[in-house]
Amino acid sequence: MAIEIIGECEDHIPSGWGYRAVKRKLGRCVCGKEIQLLKFTNTCVCGRDYNISGCLLAPRSQWGEETGEIDIDVLSAGHHIET
Ligand SMILES: [Zn+2]
Repeated sequence: MAIEIIGECEDHIPSGWGYRAVKRKLGRCVCGKEIQLLKFTNTCVCGRDYNISGCLLAPRSQWGEETGEIDIDVLSAGHHIET
């Protein structure tokens, strides 16, 4: 799920001896705060993480649980092969 994009902002990235201006998206977090989508992972003041497209990333506390689900999928897949 992506947040609403409310505008554009400028970011400056190192280029040669100086900096180069690049256009980035400005989104609005579900908490109501504006958030600049500058990097691969952008963290709002409320703690939510968004990628550069404004898609909400899974809370870091759930990353371990997702790995557990993958393990269960692998086990059930092996069971199907045996039968
Ligand atoms: Zn927020």
